[in-house]
Amino acid sequence: MTQFDADGSGTSSAAPDSPAQPSAAPTRSAAENEVVQLCSELIQFESVNTGDPATIGDGEARAARYIQEKLEEVGYETTYIESAPGRGNVFARLAGSDPTRGALLVHGHVDVVPADPSEWTVHPFSGAVQDGYVWGRGAVDMKDMVAMTLAVARDLKQQGVVPRRDLIFAFMSDEEAGGLVGAHWLVEHHPDLFSDATEAISEVGGFSINIDDERRAYLVAAAEKGVAWATLKATGTAGHGSMTSSDNAVTRIADAVSKLGAHEFPLVKTKTVSAFLASITELTGLEFPDEDLEGTIAKLGPIARIINATLRNTANPTMLKAGYKANVIPSTAEATVDCRVLPGTEDTFREQIQELVGDEVEIEWVWQPPLEFPFEGELVENMKASVRAEDEHGHPIPYMLSGGTDNKAFAKLGIKGYGFSPLRLPPDLDFSALFHGVDERVPVDSLLFGTRVLDRFLRHA
Ligand SMILES: [Zn+2]
Repeated sequence: MTQFDADGSGTSSAAPDSPAQPSAAPTRSAAENEVVQLCSELIQFESVNTGDPATIGDGEARAARYIQEKLEEVGYETTYIESAPGRGNVFARLAGSDPTRGALLVHGHVDVVPADPSEWTVHPFSGAVQDGYVWGRGAVDMKDMVAMTLAVARDLKQQGVVPRRDLIFAFMSDEEAGGLVGAHWLVEHHPDLFSDATEAISEVGGFSINIDDERRAYLVAAAEKGVAWATLKATGTAGHGSMTSSDNAVTRIADAVSKLGAHEFPLVKTKTVSAFLASITELTGLEFPDEDLEGTIAKLGPIARIINATLRNTANPTMLKAGYKANVIPSTAEATVDCRVLPGTEDTFREQIQELVGDEVEIEWVWQPPLEFPFEGELVENMKASVRAEDEHGHPIPYMLSGGTDNKAFAKLGIKGYGFSPLRLPPDLDFSALFHGVDERVPVDSLLFGTRVLDRFLRHA
């Protein structure tokens, strides 16, 4: 097992007889030289977001303050805002030469989901750099991108680089609990920070999957499913549990939940998913017949999990609430259903759900709409060129994310947000399993690659 230095300089790919390794460039940029250490140090802040204010410490604030220090050290003016005690957010701007161009927002979240050390090979908040990886909670979600952004932002400032458009760097809390005291709160209370931004890049996209031994597709998130939480409410007649009852709220809610849970929603080929499939066909020759779409997609390996989740709407019952005593029939019963909704299907979806549960069940929705943006234009061309400059066999293609990101908050301001956190990954790494997973880790070589791509991309923004 090769041990790596904190700066990632001791890589196994440096062996003189190893095959061509683009990361073994003769000279590294200042950003490449510090990105591994930044990532490791960021992981060491236990910025755990449990979703419960009572158990959330000040980890996010400490991580944000660290980022603020690193930005100010090289001359950035920063803005630090706490949406609630301990919930830190930090912002900086690199001025561009052309004020007529809308700013580009580069955003990341500093919070992470919890991790149980007893399940891990290394301590999840050690930020250990070993065996060619930076290990720890947040290594791929998303302190990797935060470190790459910070490293490149520092380098650009120190070199006096002036991009064409303003770059806004934003590092925020609370993404892992939906951003209600993070991005959504900031959009509502401090829209001025982002009001001139037209586009954004952030997490869960830009990573590679191997097409064959030579070629890779880089999956850029150009769309996100919507997140819709439905609270179902049924009422009935309260009474003694020993009596006959044909008007039972619990029975009614159970029936609705069972119908939703068993329902399979139809296949919908959205623009982005169709473009993804067409790109894979172009690269591999593999066709995706409607009769066996999911079966064919399964041939793509672990990424199939994500792609298959973007083929149809889903409605998964997750919580039930009713009653307070074994012999009392309650007058109300509730259920929560986690729905994920494809772009362009929102209205019909709501109607379908109501139809399935029937008129006697009331539904309250908390709705974060889906996103879908064109995979074309200058920004996308810049992504493609930046990836190809560092990986001549790399093909950036669009895909849809089945989950949600802070891009949903910025969409309220009309900002088109893409998932582009470039990483060239080893072919055998099950990347999607690392998100919120045990032994979350990011390859050192991938961080260096991503830093070079991001540097090119932001210089030409
Ligand atoms: Zn994330």
